[in-house]
Amino acid sequence: MVGAGYVGLTSAAALADLGNDVRVVEIDATKVRSLRRHKVHIFEPGLQEVIERNARAGRLRFTTSYAEAIPGAEFAFLAVNTPEGENGEADLSRVESAACSIAQSLSGPLIVVNKSTVPIGTGDVVSEVIRRFNTEFPVEVVSNPEFLREGSALKDFMQPDRVVIGAHNREAAERVAGLYEPLGAPILIYNIYTAEMVKYASNAFLAARISFINEIARICERVDADAKLVAEGMGLDRRIGPNFLGAGIGYGGSCFPKDVKALAAIAEKYEYHPELLHAVMDINRDQRTLVVEKLRECLGSLRGQVVGMLGLAFKPDTDDMREAPSIEIAEALLKKGAVVRAYDPVATDKARAIMPDVEYRRNPQGVARGADAIVIVTEWNEFKRLDLQKLKRLMRRPVVVDGRNIYDPEQMRRLGFVYRGIGRN
Ligand code: NAD
Repeated sequence: MVGAGYVGLTSAAALADLGNDVRVVEIDATKVRSLRRHKVHIFEPGLQEVIERNARAGRLRFTTSYAEAIPGAEFAFLAVNTPEGENGEADLSRVESAACSIAQSLSGPLIVVNKSTVPIGTGDVVSEVIRRFNTEFPVEVVSNPEFLREGSALKDFMQPDRVVIGAHNREAAERVAGLYEPLGAPILIYNIYTAEMVKYASNAFLAARISFINEIARICERVDADAKLVAEGMGLDRRIGPNFLGAGIGYGGSCFPKDVKALAAIAEKYEYHPELLHAVMDINRDQRTLVVEKLRECLGSLRGQVVGMLGLAFKPDTDDMREAPSIEIAEALLKKGAVVRAYDPVATDKARAIMPDVEYRRNPQGVARGADAIVIVTEWNEFKRLDLQKLKRLMRRPVVVDGRNIYDPEQMRRLGFVYRGIGRN
């Protein structure tokens, strides 16, 4: 497994738990040092135990050296990051450098399985890079996009809705399929370009659902409808389904923003203008600053006002701060002269490194004390069960802007809050 991030570490732990002998190669020596002590550097429910159990059983090892990881392996999974590069295109430098390191460490035939989210045609690029450094051993490249979600990564890996595999060589695809057979999920074998596209199309579709409901929410506010109830009413229609219909401050994280952009960049490269994808991105961009507009409506000028943020991670159950809406919101508030305080159950350390000008507190009460307003940024369960009366007593002014619609507007008003949700008055 190349890369010990959210995808690589989860996949490695799960594959080891299925009885495979897994070696993880990671360029970041600090991560490897801590993993060798069975300490997991990311917050992912259940991962620590599975890593510890399999490492102790000798089925899971960690190294910085390809020469230790690759020789003798049947498969090499690529799970390196593919962040946003120039003009919204995916930056493939890590995929290419990993392919190059694999090629230089080969000692026999190998199947390279690409789990990173990559533009259509990247499988061929990986094959070319490997051929440049190795002509001695046969190497097949297979696409196997990953659909796990941070916060439930292990469970998602172990109980996938489907496994997608793409390859030019059917036999290589079937050998990869063999690894997944114990999971009992449908395994779809496609050509490599289709498999690569399934990942981008899935993420773009989910992002589109979020932007769709956010557009509906904007209209709801104007006509006195309740976007949360509209989503409930829509979601029970089996043709629509309830997921990814939460109006709020928009999507974030390490996948949706970059993947929608990358798919749009692919389309433009092939001279197609992806109208819908651009609308999805534009709506999402505007949605993030909506909470700041709402705060201004309630408080007037933000200069000198104390604004508390509850939640910093891009979604609950993770410490991932990549493309978290909290960053943009905090920046906008600080720029307008507000004092920003924040609390997150697990993401504070990562947030501190990105946003040093925010004051961090150990609990929601610490954020509320003396605050002129609170913004709900991430819908952690612990915020749903807060003693709101007590919170209100601690605040200087009882303003709550609920960016995730976790509270009931009627009840909040009864408690004496000035309350603003998204798409509900
Ligand atoms: P990550 O940043 O958490 O992890 C990537 C790891 O790879 C890092 O630890 C990095 O140090 C390491 N790395 C980089 N270059 C390397 C190299 N040449 N050799 C060895 N290690 C190297 O990234 P992630 O979130 O796990 O995502 C990995 C890929 O999976 C991305 O393409 C992403 O789009 C995709 N993906 C992510 C998720 C998710 O929820 N995070 C879900 C599905 C797919």
